[in-house]
Amino acid sequence: MTMETVAPSKEIIDVIKESGGEAFKLCYQCGLCDTVCPWNRVRTFSMRKIVRQAAFGLTEIEVEDMWLCTTCGICPQQCPRDVKQIESVVSLRRIATEYGVFPASAKPVSAIRASLAGEGNPLHVERKKRAEWAEGHSVKTFTEGIDFLYFPGCYLCYDPRLVKVARATANILNLAGTDFGILGSKENCCGESIRKTGDEELFKRLARENIKTFIENGVKKILVSSPHCYHTFKNEYPEFMVNFEVVHISQYLLELICNGKLDFTKEYRKKVTYHDPCYLGRHNGIYEEPREALKKIPGIELIEMADSLEDSLCCGGGGGRIWMETPKGERFSDLRVEQAVAAGAEVLVTSCPYCITNFEDSRLALNYSEVIEVKDITEILQEVI
Ligand code: SF4
Ligand code: SF4
Repeated sequence: MTMETVAPSKEIIDVIKESGGEAFKLCYQCGLCDTVCPWNRVRTFSMRKIVRQAAFGLTEIEVEDMWLCTTCGICPQQCPRDVKQIESVVSLRRIATEYGVFPASAKPVSAIRASLAGEGNPLHVERKKRAEWAEGHSVKTFTEGIDFLYFPGCYLCYDPRLVKVARATANILNLAGTDFGILGSKENCCGESIRKTGDEELFKRLARENIKTFIENGVKKILVSSPHCYHTFKNEYPEFMVNFEVVHISQYLLELICNGKLDFTKEYRKKVTYHDPCYLGRHNGIYEEPREALKKIPGIELIEMADSLEDSLCCGGGGGRIWMETPKGERFSDLRVEQAVAAGAEVLVTSCPYCITNFEDSRLALNYSEVIEVKDITEILQEVI
């Protein structure tokens, strides 16, 4: 162990104190966090040990363990002592980021940072192409007075699989007569996931630029597709003394259906199971709206798989893990797709770009292309209106 790879213990304690208070000291080492953590379904991992080492300033910042946490939120909701595990682990990543010390699995994050800093997205695509997904889909540029800013998020703007979701959303909004617009290349990534990798400075820069853009353009209400954008706009941007009204698409779809703004023209005769994304469910309590919206679709059979609602099994993509390599055999998304198949579902539906990315990969890796489809909730709705 070299001096460069170990942060001074006082610094570790101070940084953790700043972001999570001293809650980690409340830990009485019961180990419940390790019992519920999805990592322990695929390998050995101990949040209990991370918390213990951090409490004593003994963290070795070059080790991989602190980079494994997907910030899924299962262990904080189970912890009997209200230890803030996610805040603690993000604090440790902040120290590692400041020191520039990363294990091999976290190295891809450096290139992501460069892309975020240069182009405002993590996908290494030019900023000027951010609105290309909307061409030919009757999408206005947002100006003051329009009801909603629709903020698709980086993956829906650029990723070839996920632009289909942005387009399905725009088609539904147009059919429902929603007054919405986009800001395209004026937007940055919301910054949620890079913050969880410990790059506080880059998060603040992305957030400040977005806030300035929103204010200059008269934005009041933001409609989002990604639970990660939802979380950061709603719960983290208020740290900058702003409060935008933030609505997730699953909430808005239910509202449109209940208000008679969408007419069903077809049935959807399939067995469907809904996966709760961590940042929509556990982090923000949105469980019922997507299920209620799905249940209103004629012909649909909505079934629950194992580990649903508050116990939802993480897809593995949160906390910046979407950018890191997870070896075969350790991917939670493989387990989740297996659970959906075991429940008898023909379609695994969700409402998060990271979940869809991971599930599509798993579906292919498991040779389930003919067995199960992976869809965003908007893609199902688009088929029946
Ligand atoms: S569940 Fe809470 S109290 Fe128990 S070991 Fe984990 S962090 Fe400590
Ligand atoms: S937040 Fe989730 S991934 Fe992270 S340690 Fe807790 S249970 Fe494991």
